[in-house]
Amino acid sequence: MTSPILTAVAWPYANGPRHIGHVSGFGVPSDVFSRYMRMAGNDVLMVSGTDEHGTAIQVQAEKEGLTPQQTADKYHRVIAEDLAGLGCCYDLYTRTTTLNHRAVVQELFRTLHANGYVVAQRQQGAISPSTGRTLPDRYIEGTCPICGFDGARGDQCDNCGRQLDPIDLINPRSRINGETPQFIETEHFFLDLPALAGALGKWLETRTDWRPNVLKFSENLLAELRPRAITRDLDWGVPIPLEGWEDAPMKRIYVWFDAVIGYLSASIEWAKRSGDPEAWRRWWQNDDARSYYFMGKDNITFHSVIWPGILLGANGQGDRGGEPSAFGRLDLPTEIVSSEFLTMSGSKLASSRGHVIYVRDFLRDFGPDALRYFIAVNGPENQDTDFTWEEFVRRINFELANEWGNLVNRSISMAHKNVGAIPAAGELTADDEALLQAARDAYPVVGDAWGRCKFKLATTEAMRVVGLANKYLSDQQPWKLKDDPARRDTVLHVALQVVQDCNTLLTPLLPHAAQEVFEALGGEGVWAAQPELVEVTEPGAEASYPVLRGDYVNQQAVWASRPIAVGTPLAKPTPIFTKLDPKLAETGPEWAPIG
Ligand SMILES: [Zn+2]
Repeated sequence: MTSPILTAVAWPYANGPRHIGHVSGFGVPSDVFSRYMRMAGNDVLMVSGTDEHGTAIQVQAEKEGLTPQQTADKYHRVIAEDLAGLGCCYDLYTRTTTLNHRAVVQELFRTLHANGYVVAQRQQGAISPSTGRTLPDRYIEGTCPICGFDGARGDQCDNCGRQLDPIDLINPRSRINGETPQFIETEHFFLDLPALAGALGKWLETRTDWRPNVLKFSENLLAELRPRAITRDLDWGVPIPLEGWEDAPMKRIYVWFDAVIGYLSASIEWAKRSGDPEAWRRWWQNDDARSYYFMGKDNITFHSVIWPGILLGANGQGDRGGEPSAFGRLDLPTEIVSSEFLTMSGSKLASSRGHVIYVRDFLRDFGPDALRYFIAVNGPENQDTDFTWEEFVRRINFELANEWGNLVNRSISMAHKNVGAIPAAGELTADDEALLQAARDAYPVVGDAWGRCKFKLATTEAMRVVGLANKYLSDQQPWKLKDDPARRDTVLHVALQVVQDCNTLLTPLLPHAAQEVFEALGGEGVWAAQPELVEVTEPGAEASYPVLRGDYVNQQAVWASRPIAVGTPLAKPTPIFTKLDPKLAETGPEWAPIG
């Protein structure tokens, strides 16, 4: 039975290239999950894009002597290329500076306003006197009024841990250019979260299968919900779609509000590009559809409370009632899949601190599947995890190359050399049957684990079968069966069948290698589909932009044991995984900091 599954992946921010910590949190897990779900016959829609608005883009643009749009263009392309290189199978990876996104954001904003969930309020806000733009809290620093620490930020003091308001700081200054911020009273729109808290609470009560810590965390937030400003004094962002505001040069919708709406706008853009503009409704207005949101743990609030709040308000389902938006009633998230942080020598892999391994460098030297494998077996699934080159080399050399690569290589090599094709099996022994059965039995176990985002468990189970197959070859010693070719061929047949099965089990995780193994077994055509980077245009816009999309429906990989075809010619295989230089374990590559 196929069911519609929306994979909604966190939107990377366009202020620089992404590092491996980012993609270990949202990119790889969402792709492994989606690839499995597609193989299992579900109708997956996987969407995301680059988050391109907000102050940090403007700051980066000024640093580089570019306009914000040029900076967004530059990093959107870099990020899209990196995600393509990793093999992330988006149905659409787009961006937030499209006209489509703007229109969808404005429609939800207008509806929330009409329904009474977005209200204007005056507040004291900090602006930069030289630009007139809002200075976000974290761009202001000064002396902490509580402990006297001189590097306190406008939102909190890292020394004493207290929450602060920028106006509390002694001797406040802008972290962008050092000037003293000006505090002015300004009018902004607020999302009235308290008016949505009741509906949010009722909905959270239905989320009984969420991880207890995510659920508890979200329920605790409800008690202290306050209205949140969703506009800023800024000239880079989506204009406010209300009379008297639309043309205001320094008022824009704040970046976090527009970015979460990207899940919906990207689905709508995908539908338009698919030729059926209404097709997105199958994932958003359907009791049979499920939606899975992937993110790092620092983003849970936005997905478990604020985005559902926006949806409830736009559906007219909060305390003040109201009418649904022009899109009609929209479904709330089914599941929040958050990961912990990948750290390096204990520091969060933040671009600002220098402990950075960029995806681009990593892919160039080690390829996508080595990183994907490492993230699955050693990534931050349940706790913050330290990346070390030592562990990376160990995992790749002793597991991927020695275990899986070696099984593929020696079984296909022997069959090629002795038979030239996939040999037929004679009568099976108990050992043969046991191995074949172990491979078949792994499908429900490994599949269930991929589908529940238990990546470590799924990989361990699949690699356990690889280990059994290696042991089988060592025990049966087909290379010593020159005088008994029938038995030798049976052993090789069984080994190749298990290679085929293990390749299927590992396809969601190692799609590039899986295609190679499929071809080494004599397969033709696409086994595991890859995304394509294509240039698209939009009605009404001049510039084209790159997106990721792909045809994942016509790939041959399905979640079932596929009998190998006796007689298929086999060529001499080339090694799928090469071992890394052990020296790398001590020093890392030249381009990477050790910590
Ligand atoms: Zn302090």
